[in-house]
Amino acid sequence: MEPGEGAVDYAKSLTEGLTREEAASIIHTIMIGPFEDPRVKRCAVCGYPFYDRTRNRWAEVCGPSCKTVRKSAQRREQRQVKSGRSVSIKTNKPIRYLWWLEYPYWTSERWMNSHVGSYERPHDPDKLLTIAAAKQRYEMMGGRRKPVRKAEY
Ligand SMILES: [Zn+2]
Repeated sequence: MEPGEGAVDYAKSLTEGLTREEAASIIHTIMIGPFEDPRVKRCAVCGYPFYDRTRNRWAEVCGPSCKTVRKSAQRREQRQVKSGRSVSIKTNKPIRYLWWLEYPYWTSERWMNSHVGSYERPHDPDKLLTIAAAKQRYEMMGGRRKPVRKAEY
């Protein structure tokens, strides 16, 4: 994996004005860790050390490209957790007639039954009441209410 933007910046800041050999040895040292500065962390995606510039020091990834990788991995995970059933959504499915939500007469029923869950997801029967209530509430209020912000002290 290539080092992300933050990792590259950090390495640059350490090795500025040094010879190739000196830079290489410094890079070697920081790759091993541990890091004295608590703001220097190892990126959760690319694995290279970077300097955490965020105000609250919560950064786990070094830069935007690593952030993107991590975000999409998280989304993938969430999708799998949500589906619950043995159906998994694959993003690159071949285009079949299902996208038009109509099944051609030559599709076998067995094939339909085994694939329909990936496209049409029925509500969880246990949650139908909750969902209906939420819809009704939504209509009665005339839209979504802003979440109440509570300050924690
Ligand atoms: Zn990274």
